[in-house]
Amino acid sequence: MDLEALLKLNPEKIDAQKAEPIADQLKKEINKHNHYYYIKDNPVISDADYDRLMHNLEKLEKRFPELVTEDSPTQRVGAPVEGGFPTIEHGEKMLSLQDAFDYDGLKDFLDRVYKDLGHDDVEFVVELKIDGSAVSLVYEQGRFARGATRGDGITGEDITSNLKTIQSIPLRMLEEVPFPSRLEVRGEVYLGKEEFARINERRQEEGLAVFANPRNAAAGSLRQIDPSKTAKRKLNIFIYGAVGDGALDIGAHDQMLDYLRKAGFRVNPHVEKLKGFSQIKQYCQSWEEKRKDLAYETDGLVIKVNDFSYQRKLGQTSRNPRWALAYKFPPEEEVTRVLDIKVRVGRTGAITPVAKLEPVTVAGSTIANATLHNEDEIKRKEVMIGDWVVIHKAGDVIPEIVKVIKERRKGEEKPFKMPQKCPVCGSEVIRPQGEAVRRCVSLACPAIQFEAIVHFASRGAMDIEGMGPKVVRKLIDRGLIGDPADIYFLDYDAVISLDLFKEKSTNNLLAAIRASKNQPLSRLLFGLGIRFVGQHVAEVLAEEFEHLDQLMDAQYAQIEAVREVGPRIAKSVVDFFSQKQNQKVIEKLRKAGVNFSARVQKKQSKPAFEKKTFVITGKLDSFSRSQAKALMEKYGARVTSSVSKSTDVVVVGKDPGSKLDDAKKYNIKTIDEQQLKKMLG
Ligand code: NAD
Repeated sequence: MDLEALLKLNPEKIDAQKAEPIADQLKKEINKHNHYYYIKDNPVISDADYDRLMHNLEKLEKRFPELVTEDSPTQRVGAPVEGGFPTIEHGEKMLSLQDAFDYDGLKDFLDRVYKDLGHDDVEFVVELKIDGSAVSLVYEQGRFARGATRGDGITGEDITSNLKTIQSIPLRMLEEVPFPSRLEVRGEVYLGKEEFARINERRQEEGLAVFANPRNAAAGSLRQIDPSKTAKRKLNIFIYGAVGDGALDIGAHDQMLDYLRKAGFRVNPHVEKLKGFSQIKQYCQSWEEKRKDLAYETDGLVIKVNDFSYQRKLGQTSRNPRWALAYKFPPEEEVTRVLDIKVRVGRTGAITPVAKLEPVTVAGSTIANATLHNEDEIKRKEVMIGDWVVIHKAGDVIPEIVKVIKERRKGEEKPFKMPQKCPVCGSEVIRPQGEAVRRCVSLACPAIQFEAIVHFASRGAMDIEGMGPKVVRKLIDRGLIGDPADIYFLDYDAVISLDLFKEKSTNNLLAAIRASKNQPLSRLLFGLGIRFVGQHVAEVLAEEFEHLDQLMDAQYAQIEAVREVGPRIAKSVVDFFSQKQNQKVIEKLRKAGVNFSARVQKKQSKPAFEKKTFVITGKLDSFSRSQAKALMEKYGARVTSSVSKSTDVVVVGKDPGSKLDDAKKYNIKTIDEQQLKKMLG
């Protein structure tokens, strides 16, 4: 059976005769992936597929218990260590954690703990699950004696010299606390997000394979034979527990963390003592967003029974303690297949290759496409049609292909060739010298027109609600619009004739078009789609020039002199306004009465908003979020996406999210939509 068949098999339907050879194949396959993952730090299948294989084996072993062998991966942790380092036997087994991927799993865990203990008066400590590599550090008479990887849980690799290069590992425990003659401390070595990006960038430059995620990178960095190489990777550590503490008279996990902190170990500050399902669930939810602001990766939360006597009573299996659970966030990496590579033409004429993927869920959303940016990127990443690839998506960030899994190539993969002609209008495409991107330069290219108008009307630009890609497509096809300014000359009859709207929605769209005329200059500048002028640069330019005419009249040198604006942007702005076609569009916008001035905004500042930081949570009835944001900003407010101590006001709409909890936690003023409307006047 190949991997695909092992993933698809139904363990409930396998008869007794076939069970043994199939279980053997599953064990072999899982062991192979343990080796790729734990020894080579280079997984070739997704965690979800790995978990599926494991699940199939567990089910089969449950049905036929005689298949449970001592060396079955279901009975072990990690993978046996491989030459290169001397080995160390752990004082107490280093286990993995049972995991839950949803709140039902969390509830099942709590119910089982309550059942086994015979009551539900149980305190839990909830910590961040740091996504790195587990290590054990042995302290003798308070001095760091040696340290090891987890290995197979019983024996790990002696990586003492490498661990000594990590500044946050104390070589001596602080004398403020009593220490036993021998203490085995457990923690997670990790790489910060920035450092991970830096290492991968360097590896790419050197033509080396990049790491799929910070966890593999941390594990790989820890196991460098030459410690000076480890030292160059700025590894760090969080300590989350200790064993062999009999002499210490500590009765609970939170006390142990306090002790470790006092002893000079780096313990993560985000630790909460909680009770009951709803408290724990709420706390887990609050981290779904907040974790993005951390400087390191966390892949979930670890929920631990606090009392050591309860922990002992609950015991452990051969793989996991029965008193702890890892609640895992949806994964940000997945493995999937490139079904095809197509090109799309953007609003600047850029021809971008896009990988069409076998749909897969990453960070909670289904991903079927990933941009490949340009042909150099395809070459650099060596992507071929049919390849298995690791894709990454974090939050709202665009999904990207991290690397190709060459180990899974079968020889049937096909290389991709960039087209020499625009796939939409058929004109010749050019690749300007020094640029990585091929472009269609035909002004009449319908793809460019379409993308330019969609961008102009989009949320971050003029924010015309209802003017999405479908509507723009129809308006262009009917010949009703050809450039962004034409939007302002649409009337009721034209819009209703599209057969996309009824009377009310037609009026709504026309009202949204009218309202957008008052958007600040920065949004107009961004909406015009000038190359290299993103939202921030547009704001900088609007602040400096205050009126579109002043910017259009400005010389190259004047624009280049503006802070944060370099020669590349200045040239692009000058080029844009010098084109006849663009001048015509701007004259049409003027005629339509679109605001060209930045000053309007400044005059309107209101004390309730001036210099205050606002956050919006939940759905508002009368405005889209970006409309509300624009209005508040117009009156001098700063509107941010997450609540922190420096937030002044949180606007609470319908179905508010965890930001409302954060507001309560920090004691921040909240207002509802009605109050906001009043303040806006
Ligand atoms: P794990 O990473 O899911 O959880 C256990 C580990 O969490 C512990 O060993 C510890 O090091 C760490 N941890 C971090 N913060 C902690 C804290 N505050 N308290 C306690 N522990 C903390 O388990 P694992 O056994 O290392 O790995 C299993 C996972 O690896 C699974 O999700 C599996 O899918 C994946 N895996 C994937 C492949 C593959 O080929 N894709 C192969 C093997 C394993």
